[in-house]
Amino acid sequence: MTRRAVYPGTFDPVTYGHIDLIKRARKIFDQVIVAVADNPGKGPLFTVAERVALLTQATRSIPGVTVDAFDSLVVDYVRRKGARVVLRGLRMLSDFEYEFQMALTNRKLSGDVETIFMMPSEAYAYLSARLIKEAALLGADLSAFVPPFVAQALRRRLCR
Ligand code: ADP
Repeated sequence: MTRRAVYPGTFDPVTYGHIDLIKRARKIFDQVIVAVADNPGKGPLFTVAERVALLTQATRSIPGVTVDAFDSLVVDYVRRKGARVVLRGLRMLSDFEYEFQMALTNRKLSGDVETIFMMPSEAYAYLSARLIKEAALLGADLSAFVPPFVAQALRRRLCR
């Protein structure tokens, strides 16, 4: 049986923290589907197509990873993909409350889908896409946070 996990998120844009998590997940799951949420409510900087393209480039060298977009309930998407696991990352304690609520809500919606949490390398435990966007706006060197093509996309988008 193929062990398949869905890693949903906004990924606006992908960071080294997300990539670290995907690599760790691949040690446990045969297939990881990175699912970009089409969630205009969050006011993303990049379109879904742009976020998918950046993630595809970032995960090109990791076998067993596919990138997709979705605009439905996470649990419905997971079932449609023939998976039963939602993968989420936990960085700080501050992630916990929101993630806990979401995992239990998803369990209520679909009892056969489990959420699994993984922690990134401590080097990336403080990284957030939101802070990276703020730093990018102020012209920071982003090389420790995101791949070079993501830094370039951020500069192009923010430094007009
Ligand atoms: P969302 O809007 O769904 O929280 P994000 O793109 O911010 O979307 O995050 C997607 C998932 O990746 C979340 O589970 C988040 O906790 C996790 N994540 C984000 N940044 C990191 C990081 N630096 N290390 C580990 N996990 C992370």
